[in-house]
Amino acid sequence: MRLRDLPSVDELARGSDDPLAVDAARAVLARAREEIRAGADPGDLAGRLREELVAVRLPRLRRVINATGVIAHTNLGRAPLAEEALVRVHDAARGYSNLEYDLLAGTRGSRQDHVAPLLRRLTSAEAALVVNNNAAAVLLALAALAEGRDVLVSRGELIEIGDGFRIPDVLARSGARLHEVGTTNRTRAADYERAITDETALLLRVHQSNFRVVGFAEQPRLEELAAVAQRHGLPLLDDLGSGSLVNVGDEPTAREALAAGADLVCFSGDKLLGGPQAGIVVGRAELVERLRRHALQRALRADKLTLAALEGTLALYLDAPERIPVLRMLRNDVASVRARAERLAELVGGEVEETIARAGGGALPLAELPSFACAVEEELAAQLRAGDPPVIALIRDGRTLLDCRTLTDDETDEVADAVIACR
Ligand SMILES: *Cc1c(COP(=O)(O)O)cnc(C)c1O
Repeated sequence: MRLRDLPSVDELARGSDDPLAVDAARAVLARAREEIRAGADPGDLAGRLREELVAVRLPRLRRVINATGVIAHTNLGRAPLAEEALVRVHDAARGYSNLEYDLLAGTRGSRQDHVAPLLRRLTSAEAALVVNNNAAAVLLALAALAEGRDVLVSRGELIEIGDGFRIPDVLARSGARLHEVGTTNRTRAADYERAITDETALLLRVHQSNFRVVGFAEQPRLEELAAVAQRHGLPLLDDLGSGSLVNVGDEPTAREALAAGADLVCFSGDKLLGGPQAGIVVGRAELVERLRRHALQRALRADKLTLAALEGTLALYLDAPERIPVLRMLRNDVASVRARAERLAELVGGEVEETIARAGGGALPLAELPSFACAVEEELAAQLRAGDPPVIALIRDGRTLLDCRTLTDDETDEVADAVIACR
């Protein structure tokens, strides 16, 4: 076929009464022109138009299987939700809900009232607030408590978390002024004390998340910082990042941070907590109330699907935390991970390999979770990604590793089917 033999967009689209046919025909013809220029034959254009019309309707945001061994994998949607959380989402979303309605009084209520009691119970905080994500929580807290004034932060905590979230930039956006204290590797409580002036509004501590300074390094303990803040009547905000609610590795829990003297603590909903994307702020009632009344709160608030999923996840912390997928994967004993890898290797003719899994989400960067993978041919990685559902794996030393710490038993079977289908 030559370029001049190609039909026009209208001619190709004419055979179809699909409202998307003209756009699809344009895309099919653009690809056909490229193929002809490259010396290939574009083949049956009408057939390709039909395929294109099917393809444009396929979901672009899709379920994938995470065989990377990185548990709260940011590129793969972080935390998978517990069944109990999904049920709440379905219930709250399929019809109307009491999102902002007080069922007792029959009057307007607050969307913050649904999860606040659970958060107070789980962290012993006086009050709690939920916004869209933890970046929003930090932004809102700084805007509400420190706009136009100084915020003291250690030079060792001026971090970038990923995708351009940098503490100095967020601080600037909030309208607060950054006042750096200490050095990259060593900061002491006395450095904060010396830096306090009439312009100081807040002390901010930021969890180092995805990196650690080792060697000649020192950061004050939270208790020491709290003592400085208290002496000067200033609030201390602790951005925990992951912020787990139960002990996971050496990550500080929100309850511990409050007990150590932080006035406000903020953390993500979808990292170690294992819930939906959300930013959670807990702490002193008077400060939380200032955040709630700030104009930005309206722009940063969480929607009903998030609140439903979060309530469902938090409820599990009371009775059955092992039903939260992130916690289950973190705590899964290595023998059962190995058993899954052995089963997978048997099903697909692969080899069992010892690996190191990661918590992900910027939490516990140095923690090495012992894990096992099934190793198969390197070429399979791309084919598995193109499958349905796509399986995402890591390539190491010329082989594709299917890490079994991030697979459920059912997913292990799906991965086996996917590998067999590729061969
Ligand atoms: C991850 C992280 C954030 C941002 O949280 P998101 O929920 O992703 O917005 C902020 N601060 C710290 C210390 C973090 O680790």
